[in-house]
Amino acid sequence: MPLICLALFLLLMPALYFFVLNLGSGSIEDCPNCGSRNSNDAEHCEKCRQYRPADVLSENYWLLAIGSGCCLLAMIGWITSQ
Ligand SMILES: [Zn+2]
Repeated sequence: MPLICLALFLLLMPALYFFVLNLGSGSIEDCPNCGSRNSNDAEHCEKCRQYRPADVLSENYWLLAIGSGCCLLAMIGWITSQ
């Protein structure tokens, strides 16, 4: 059992990492073309009208949140099974 928990924890580490990263960025993003700030769900930049591809990370926000939760649970399970 402890090994499975450890494996799950390591597997879900990236989800936790990207979840925390995503928390910091919020819903405002810089345009890669002109640097002006846009809301994350805007498909085109408000200033230069450049198309901004949707952020994959924020689209899978809840998936990342669930992954992070499982990661923490696996970590707790691993610690308590010691
Ligand atoms: Zn722009």
